[in-house]
Amino acid sequence: MTRAALFSPPSCPVLVVKIGSSLLVAPDGRVRRDWLAGIVADVAARRAAGQRIILVSSGAIALGARRLGLPGGGRASLEDAQAAAATGQIALSQTWAELLGERGITAAQMLLTLDDLEDRRRYLNASATLARLLALGVVPVVNENDSVATEEIRFGDNDRLAARVALAAGAGGVVLLSDVDGLYTADPARDPSATLVADATLDAATLAMADGASRSGMGSGGMAAKLAAARIAHEGGAHLAIVGGAGDRPLSAFADTARGTVFAASARRGARKAWLAGRLTARGRILIDEGAADALGRGASLLPAGARAAEGRFARGDVVDIVGADGRIVARGLAEYDGEEARRIAGRRSTDLADLLGYAPRAALVHRDHMVML
Ligand code: GLU
Repeated sequence: MTRAALFSPPSCPVLVVKIGSSLLVAPDGRVRRDWLAGIVADVAARRAAGQRIILVSSGAIALGARRLGLPGGGRASLEDAQAAAATGQIALSQTWAELLGERGITAAQMLLTLDDLEDRRRYLNASATLARLLALGVVPVVNENDSVATEEIRFGDNDRLAARVALAAGAGGVVLLSDVDGLYTADPARDPSATLVADATLDAATLAMADGASRSGMGSGGMAAKLAAARIAHEGGAHLAIVGGAGDRPLSAFADTARGTVFAASARRGARKAWLAGRLTARGRILIDEGAADALGRGASLLPAGARAAEGRFARGDVVDIVGADGRIVARGLAEYDGEEARRIAGRRSTDLADLLGYAPRAALVHRDHMVML
């Protein structure tokens, strides 16, 4: 299968398309309506071919900043960004609703915060809403709820949001449309020998190619956020492409030329494990020894005997990172014990647990059914 075919309607029934601020909003602060009409034509064609599409649309802050006359693209302070987002979002939604409506497609707006997708119950709510909207033939248009998100609880970039939304919707692919046409071996503006990486893997050499900043200064993504999104998608079993979106009908162009960078996912994960793998935060950490790391690699549960220590305040059922002897996070899972109990039983044999805790315990600290290797 060609790279672009991974994202085609027959092989990818649900596709998430993320559109960066610099594509949507012209340098003078106006919506690039003609360009958006091209995207909507692409979306209509894919829907006619049987693909369900979720749009993750940036641009609220950039649009709102212009309307309010705020400096620094509306990103000079969190308060400015919140006000700009609240003002720009209404214009953004209206534009999408109109353009999709012209082709007989109903748009729906979903504004999400990081917490909505980190908390399991709220994540399931968001998943259910997305599933229902898709079943009804609606195109969800998603953005971060920037007007209420504070620094601690915000994604800050729509690249990672798009990857998380893909997992929540059970999508097989994510296309990040951007003002760069993929991942380059070096910054092409500075190094003429830089080449586009067509097929990428998430190894150390690839991660080193990313710089943090957004080139247009309009969005907040940058390549580092795109690679973080690729990692989330990969862990959840979704393919991800970084594609240049500046030309007309960029989704059609990608289908024709396959130009861009593709991170192909290996295996699909079950929905619960995909949620776990894509989470950005954990309540605690369990430090394990090398023997336990080997056992986890072979598919075993984490037993108390393999744990060296437990850190953090977490309850039974909370997400914990499982950290190897070298400090690397090797797995993530749902704790079978709270943090206090975990500290007491770390390093002890399962047969000792009843004596230590005074009640009939579960054998594992983290059961393999509720764990993903990272
Ligand atoms: N949510 C932001 C907005 O609508 C964009 C975030 C990003 O640049 O990725 O303006």
